[in-house]
Amino acid sequence: MKAVAVFPARRELQLIEHQEPGIQSPTQIKMRVLDVGVCGTDREITSFQYGTPPEGSDYLIIGHESLSQVIECGEKVTRAKPGDLVVLTVRRPCPHDSCIACRSGRQDYCYTGDFTERGIKQRHGYMTEFVVEEESYANVVPRELREVAVLVEPLTIAEKSLEQLRTVEQRLPWDGQGHRNAVVLGAGPVGLLGAMALRIAGFDVTVYSRSSKQEEKDDIVAAIGGQYIAAETHSIDEMANAVGAIDLVYEAIGASSVAFEVIKHLGPNGVFIFTGVPGRKAPIEVDTDYIMRDVVLNNQVILGSVNAPPHGFQQAIRDLGTFMQKWPAAVHSLITARFPIDQATKPLEPGAGGIKNVIAVSA
Ligand SMILES: [Zn+2]
Ligand SMILES: [Zn+2]
Repeated sequence: MKAVAVFPARRELQLIEHQEPGIQSPTQIKMRVLDVGVCGTDREITSFQYGTPPEGSDYLIIGHESLSQVIECGEKVTRAKPGDLVVLTVRRPCPHDSCIACRSGRQDYCYTGDFTERGIKQRHGYMTEFVVEEESYANVVPRELREVAVLVEPLTIAEKSLEQLRTVEQRLPWDGQGHRNAVVLGAGPVGLLGAMALRIAGFDVTVYSRSSKQEEKDDIVAAIGGQYIAAETHSIDEMANAVGAIDLVYEAIGASSVAFEVIKHLGPNGVFIFTGVPGRKAPIEVDTDYIMRDVVLNNQVILGSVNAPPHGFQQAIRDLGTFMQKWPAAVHSLITARFPIDQATKPLEPGAGGIKNVIAVSA
């Protein structure tokens, strides 16, 4: 079967022939891959900054944002059945008995770092025609989400962040939160899906971003009842003045210089959530006294969030359904283009435009 793979040692990205997998245990399912989303992580892997092949293989099949259709089930599979649409999770537990996170099924909080990830770290990914996986890593998706369910995985970043936010907010000993302001940094798929999730959660949302497709992003943010402020024409100070007290910053920009400037504008009891992974650049100047003083005097929380548990995927599937009821056109417009697997390298090129490009492996 066809697959898209990187050969890190040779620094090559290729469409390859890979042996079609078969069911190996009664709890596994076999799927035909429909859609695979392309993101910044894939571009890092295909520019050889990141990504590790499985042991004994000189290549790694990429792709971690997927939608598949079940074609075969092991005898002990109970939830999925042939024909079902499913989204697979990405991270698999580390082998260590001492890792209470992985042993509790919460490898998103793995302590050892020896977890594996499909399409990223020591496990082949989903940019291929067929995949086999344990049923427990599969999440069934309603058929009406067929065209957009490839967005479930990037939405899980917001879902895990919101779950942690709710835990943090339990420190505030009163009922209800009243009116709350959220600022989303970045208007890529993670930022825009995060903005939608925050709207559903009752926040007023401002998206602050630098973007080549300003008008398109502006329209999407307006459609969900948020405001878009362009970083090209508005400084961070101007943005913060327009928003007022910021209760939450959801960072999805991966640029630490912007992020640390915005931390200065976080309001009382505010929470700042980092989700971006910046590339290593030269050190920058940050006014640490000012930030530390403000974090203390305002009871602020700064937290990082990565990966999502299975219930984060289920919440993302529910929320995506809600988004589609409220803002179908805005959700559809997050997917810029679909490419056949033979042209998978196109959206992986540096500077490939669009919001979310998708490899349509099969129809
Ligand atoms: Zn991704
Ligand atoms: Zn672990």
